[in-house]
Amino acid sequence: MTNHSFFGGLRSRLMALAFTVVAAGLPAADPAVLLKDPAVQSLLEVVRRNEPDTMALLVRLTEIPAPPFKEEARAAVLRQLFEQHGLKNVFIDRAGNVVGTRPGAQPRPNVVVSAHLDTVFPEGTDVTVKHDGSRLKAPGIGDDTRGLAELISVLRVLQETKTPTTGTITFVATVGEEGLGDLRGVKELFDHTLKDQVDMFISIDGGGTGTITAFGVGSYRYRVTFKGPGGHSYGAFGLVNPIHALGRAAAVIADIQVPASPKTTFNIGRIGGGTSVNSIPFEAWMEIDMRSPDPVPLGAVREQILAAVDTAVKAENARWPKGAITADVQLVGDRPPGQTSADTALVQGAQGVIRALGGVPVIRASSTDANYPMKLGIPAITVGTGGISRDAHSLDESYEPVDSWKGPQHTLLLLLSLTR
Ligand SMILES: [Zn+2]
Repeated sequence: MTNHSFFGGLRSRLMALAFTVVAAGLPAADPAVLLKDPAVQSLLEVVRRNEPDTMALLVRLTEIPAPPFKEEARAAVLRQLFEQHGLKNVFIDRAGNVVGTRPGAQPRPNVVVSAHLDTVFPEGTDVTVKHDGSRLKAPGIGDDTRGLAELISVLRVLQETKTPTTGTITFVATVGEEGLGDLRGVKELFDHTLKDQVDMFISIDGGGTGTITAFGVGSYRYRVTFKGPGGHSYGAFGLVNPIHALGRAAAVIADIQVPASPKTTFNIGRIGGGTSVNSIPFEAWMEIDMRSPDPVPLGAVREQILAAVDTAVKAENARWPKGAITADVQLVGDRPPGQTSADTALVQGAQGVIRALGGVPVIRASSTDANYPMKLGIPAITVGTGGISRDAHSLDESYEPVDSWKGPQHTLLLLLSLTR
């Protein structure tokens, strides 16, 4: 999954960033040293022992539907769980995020650990969990219901063992991570709910335990609608045609050149319009997605796409004597790109945890809730849930709990190293 070549493109910028972030970074307890502490070892043992309960909770949560923009039922249960497990000041914010605090001896550093409530599946999808050998199958089970179950596993062991921390840990279940949810939960969290109160952000999302998402792939999504008067294909011939205009734009977009490193992409994913073969359409639309972990090429590809739309409108209007095409350009997705420096306490700590627990850390780029705090300059990463997640976003989605307790063990050790 990791695109190594893309490091080359960002290295110099990262080097420059490293100094400022180190100065602001908070020292972490070395996870390898922590792991030698018998008290910490016994916490990790409890996590492992609790794993059957964590899996049972995973099944329970998976079977509560959480379609995009309809996460309330699942949020209500998370709120209950947060309260049952002793979090303070538990509430649901304006966007629908569930928030609860585990105060440390000091309010700072405040580390947020979170997973997302929403799935990509529409209302009415069968979310019954089915057993298929050692796999559990259900839409949303891995992405990101397993992350929610892991949040509770970590919280439970901290509470049951009354483990004190110096720093504060805030547990959050976010809304709107997927698709057109457009990170609305995490945006609300950092712009309002916990504005200026968060020092580090950890999102649990995606399988395994060896990867750290420290680069946020940003994206813009547009829906462009070309409009004209429309008319009979024979009788009104000579009129501007919105589908022809769309075709002109698509042809120019198809030839846009983008850098291979950092990987920058564009795609016209859907088109539509027209009413019949013998009508000049009054409307045609297309949906375009563009992505990059670097804001510069991302901005450049956006400019070229918007210019292509403009040029297409002018060309179509110049071609025909009658009518005029207009283009309605609507931004329907805006995920900022970002990165967290390898020299921050957070990335250092996460790498140290993976090594201490016997793995080899891999830094990668992805698009997750961590994108938004990264953009704000708040150290943020996304870590794995443990186990094996397959076929996310498909009806065949499954989760196989191979050494799944390692997920919460990693997250717990990381939280301890950051807040001890
Ligand atoms: Zn996810």
